Amino acid sequence: MSRLFLVLGDQLHPDPHPLLADFDAASDRLLMIEATEESTHVWSHRARSALFLAAMRHRAAAFRDAGYPLDYLRLGEHPHATLAAALAARLAGVRAVVMLEAGDQRVQGALDAACRAAGVALLVRPDPHFLCSTEAFAEWAGTRDKLRLEYFYRWQRKRHDVLMAGDEPLGGQWNFDADNRQAFGRHGPGLLPPPLRFAPDALTRSAIADVARHFPMHPGSLDSFAWPVTSAQAEAALADFIAHRLPDFGRWQDAMWSGQPFLWHSLLSTALNLKLIDPRRVIAATEAACAAGRVPLAAAEGFIRQILGWREFVRGIYHRHMPALASANQYDHRQPLPAWFWSGRTQAACLAAVIGQTLEHGYAHHIQRLMITGNFALLAGLDPRQVADWYLAVYVDAVAWVEEPNTLGMALNAWPGMTSKPYCASGAYIDRMSDYCRSCRYRPKERSGETACPFTTLYWDFLARHARRFAANPRLALPLKNLQRLPADERERISERRDWLLARLDDL
Ligand code: FAD
Ligand code: SF4
Repeated sequence: MSRLFLVLGDQLHPDPHPLLADFDAASDRLLMIEATEESTHVWSHRARSALFLAAMRHRAAAFRDAGYPLDYLRLGEHPHATLAAALAARLAGVRAVVMLEAGDQRVQGALDAACRAAGVALLVRPDPHFLCSTEAFAEWAGTRDKLRLEYFYRWQRKRHDVLMAGDEPLGGQWNFDADNRQAFGRHGPGLLPPPLRFAPDALTRSAIADVARHFPMHPGSLDSFAWPVTSAQAEAALADFIAHRLPDFGRWQDAMWSGQPFLWHSLLSTALNLKLIDPRRVIAATEAACAAGRVPLAAAEGFIRQILGWREFVRGIYHRHMPALASANQYDHRQPLPAWFWSGRTQAACLAAVIGQTLEHGYAHHIQRLMITGNFALLAGLDPRQVADWYLAVYVDAVAWVEEPNTLGMALNAWPGMTSKPYCASGAYIDRMSDYCRSCRYRPKERSGETACPFTTLYWDFLARHARRFAANPRLALPLKNLQRLPADERERISERRDWLLARLDDL
């Protein structure tokens, strides 16, 4: 009886693949499955599906070249809609299924059930890609009911000895936010260093064609697909980012500009989440560039915070707080997702820009996800589950372990344990950090009336609705004080405008 080693679509680690250390080519087999359900359990952007299939097909070719006995089930060439059904059909004569832990508990649960039903042992091994195992995270979290990135990040820096000078942070500070996160001002970003993009080869084109054929009605364009789909391309993308964009990454991390979806961002989330590249490589290359004086410490620290801090932090939260996280809704928000989330056709220029580029590329950078679509969803009281399913569907880098905590914990504050206050802001913030308001029919400073910015109206209304809940939070003291200063008749007009807006969200 043989063992079946299952490699999932986001487990495409470079050689030596960590699942295969004890693989015995004489008796064991390798299995990779393309399953329709992975594109349909949420209404996935076609570039997201194409990315997974293209990267899987490239990894499969490398496994075959290395001599592994591989069964690869292509979309449309097998009758099974789900990973679990396809696995179940291959279990005859199998002694054990061996896999790395899945990044989506939905998938892990279904595979567990398939093996259990067949009476086959399932051996799930930890994924060494991550810099904080679920056990280490549980130890760090201990009995804390509030989990804060800053403490986790410092703990990670110390234990992995990253940007440290002995026991102290390099440069004497853990955080260089004061140097980072600037706005472009009136003149915009100027000349931008374009990111390295990868023209689809024949294998990637086959994946794109299969997605177009199988999911013709799914959202999102396939025309601009240029993501790295192999470890070698991921390495090239990293080198390009470090040479050309990392030096200014921190400075422009939070800025937004019309028609510029990528700015100084790394575009590495897809390569990281598919495991095409190891985060240790990314961190070491960043540290080396900083040590060589090619990258300022503030930029290196700002970037490393995202990889060593946020990325590992949200994964720890996902595994510790599922399934409660998935259905969290602390504000009891119930508004349905407006239809224009799937088309970008709204008169709110910022939302149209961010959703438009999302549909075109499957990409928006962090502040666009957090402070434009996420902020709007929070302020308008959209149903958190519908919003989370949208984020899971439309971003090429979306995998449950990273999408769910970012959406439900950070952006929507539906699950309260992750941030010390909701990330909410009025149109004034968006006006400061972008040029979107210049071409908008709404006015960012107006709170009420026909041309009032919907963010601004809903921001003041959100504060007013939850004033009692927020009163104990010192980080919200200033906004609440400003709310108190508003005359009663203005507060009345804000409520009226709120009612008007919420009754017509589809026409915004
Ligand atoms: P950069 O800005 O260059 O950042 C560098 C890297 O840091 C990223 O590649 C990513 O690996 C990591 N990173 C940065 N911020 C975060 C974060 N908050 N959580 C985890 N990793 C982070 N990221 C995903 O990878 N998949 C998702 O499904 C996802 N969903 C999100 C949903 C919402 C509502 C929000 C607010 C954020 C989400 N993020 C998600 C985090 C972040 O927006 C993306 O990682 C980032 O925009 C990817 O672009 P980039 O590679 O150019 O990132
Ligand atoms: Fe967005 Fe309001 Fe600015 Fe329009 S005015 S772009 S809706 S923030």
